[in-house]
Amino acid sequence: MRLKTRAQMASRRLIRELVKPLLARASEDDLIKVINILWRYSPVPKHREDFGKLVGLLKNYPSAGELTPHARRRLVETLVINPIVSAPLRKERESMGMAAPFLWAISPTNRCGLKSCVGCYDRGDFIGGEITELPFETADGAVKEFQRDLGVYNFTITGGEPREWGGSFNPAENWLLRLARGNPESSIQFYTHGVETRTDSSGDLVIEPMSPAYVAEIAKLGNLFPAISLEGGPETTNRRRGGGVRDVYGPATESMARLHQAGAVFFVSLTVFRQNLYEITSDEMIKEAIRLGAIIAWFFPWVPVAETEVEKVRKLQLTPRERRWLAHRIVEIRQTFPIFAADFWDDGSLVMDANKGNVMCMAAGRLYGHLNCRGDWEFCVFGHHATDNIHNGIGPAQAVDSDFFRLFRSKHPWSCTPGDPCPMIDHNEVIREIIQESGAKPTRPLATCVLQGPVADYLKDEYGPQYVELCRQEYGVGQ
Ligand code: SF4
Repeated sequence: MRLKTRAQMASRRLIRELVKPLLARASEDDLIKVINILWRYSPVPKHREDFGKLVGLLKNYPSAGELTPHARRRLVETLVINPIVSAPLRKERESMGMAAPFLWAISPTNRCGLKSCVGCYDRGDFIGGEITELPFETADGAVKEFQRDLGVYNFTITGGEPREWGGSFNPAENWLLRLARGNPESSIQFYTHGVETRTDSSGDLVIEPMSPAYVAEIAKLGNLFPAISLEGGPETTNRRRGGGVRDVYGPATESMARLHQAGAVFFVSLTVFRQNLYEITSDEMIKEAIRLGAIIAWFFPWVPVAETEVEKVRKLQLTPRERRWLAHRIVEIRQTFPIFAADFWDDGSLVMDANKGNVMCMAAGRLYGHLNCRGDWEFCVFGHHATDNIHNGIGPAQAVDSDFFRLFRSKHPWSCTPGDPCPMIDHNEVIREIIQESGAKPTRPLATCVLQGPVADYLKDEYGPQYVELCRQEYGVGQ
């Protein structure tokens, strides 16, 4: 790190320590005033934009108004102050042509008490029933190294079920809570089924809401943000997540009620299939998410990264026209309802590369990447190939600038519009080329489904070209 960068970061750290006690005493109005000042006078356009969004969130979203003062302060600390502290380091790395990720995803376990959700993108890991986990120290060490060496303070923990990592829901023993406790400067979002599962004496699966003690700990920590999965209303959620026979919706929404009651920040995570497209995006669904207290709704159109049958893919995956409809509906939701809605695949305009003005696939360290439960450094949560592994001594700083990730980033740009960023789903020929040139190896049994075989060919020859053509027409590209 250059001397100038080191000095800039030290002075920003000092300011952070001076601001913290003020934040602790600040009223809601004072907090908004502070953010407003940072927003208006920040020299970095992207920061002005981010602060503007946060002010809007705190001022206008009814659920944000119900957060505890502690939760609001922690939100400001983790989402606003810490990125400012790390900005000089990220800027230095960018100027040297190195990766400067803003976020990292970690899947520390493939355990999941539900296991049976239709089309689970992680289900390849369950073949053979093998349970794999990162040791706590490995994941914790990676988080600390990301903070120190790369200025990354935002983490997404996924899985498997992150709350089952380490095998205990007991707050005193739970590894996810321990990770958040030990890294208070970082914001840690986690995707969760939102329930607690156990087997009773007759071997039946029992599904219950998050315990009050677990919820209280989340509220107390303030840097841990659950994104709880729903598929629509009770019937649709229970059909996918409970095999049509178990109630998952009731316990999951009861967990939300408990989090809301405790004033904790939480989100909803919504996987979109052909079968639930109109239900999961309906006014009623969005109003229900707001009533439950969620402040962000993450939409994930289902993608076939672990499927072998084209007919199943045709049945589940949104058609190109449905996917464009969804992209427009999400913008409408954002503009109409007091909740921040975003679509992981189709909101490319939210992650424009400010320096180059092009639309981004965030993967391979460009904005983010993924450490899986076996320690593989994958380019994306949905991209199951790697060349390096943390258990072989490759840490975050080496991984983000590995030959594989550099090669991946060098292939940009492949998208034509803000709607078609994905090298696997939209431009399947690109991922084939990257994997072949890099020699990256599959990290789980069904990983090669996107490289060869009927589903890969369907994506390359039919789905991708049709979808990209729709995007081109819509954005007037190449006409
Ligand atoms: S590889 Fe696809 S899913 Fe992953 S970040 Fe890029 S566009 Fe998104």
